[in-house]
Amino acid sequence: MRCPFCLRADRPMTREHVFAHWLVRQVHGGRLVPSASTRGEANVAPLRIARVVTSVCADCNAGWMSSLEVAFRRVLFARRRSGPIPAADRVILARWLTKTAVLLTDAQGASLEIDRARLVTGMPEGIDVLLARRRRPPQRLDFALDTDGSRTRSVAILVDDVVAHVASSGVLGGRHGTRIFPLRTYALRWETLPVIAPGALRTG
Ligand SMILES: [Zn+2]
Repeated sequence: MRCPFCLRADRPMTREHVFAHWLVRQVHGGRLVPSASTRGEANVAPLRIARVVTSVCADCNAGWMSSLEVAFRRVLFARRRSGPIPAADRVILARWLTKTAVLLTDAQGASLEIDRARLVTGMPEGIDVLLARRRRPPQRLDFALDTDGSRTRSVAILVDDVVAHVASSGVLGGRHGTRIFPLRTYALRWETLPVIAPGALRTG
């Protein structure tokens, strides 16, 4: 079995919760299911978000993924979300969101066009990450995939009141939020991120 990131087949594999326990606790997400799935078949219990798992190798899990998790937690939860979002923080957010989008896609047995190995050391080219905020979200952890056959076109991820969309370059329109990656030079502030409409989280 190959690691989905470093692509090595000779490493011990570990089961990884796509959303870490600290995050599930932080947003009281233990019982939540994806909001888009609650409209589906009433007799099929949708999988809890906290229970979505995939496999990654032990080196990736304990190495760059662990550091990225700590950095993401600091950027999003260490202080109030106000003021400028420095370029370094935008890269941390973009990389964590892209890593999470890849794992969510893998968990669904679909595929997202991305230079996975590049994620091990930084943020790959050819990916757009858009950010927005949601006023009083009905749940504080959520995701939705826009999948065409076995190909994932885009992934929406909600953490607390921050909504992100991740996709290959050019797929996403501006209505999903402000582009935080690729980096632009001008200043970006938490307060000026667009606020998107309520309702089930959607990719389209
Ligand atoms: Zn690996």
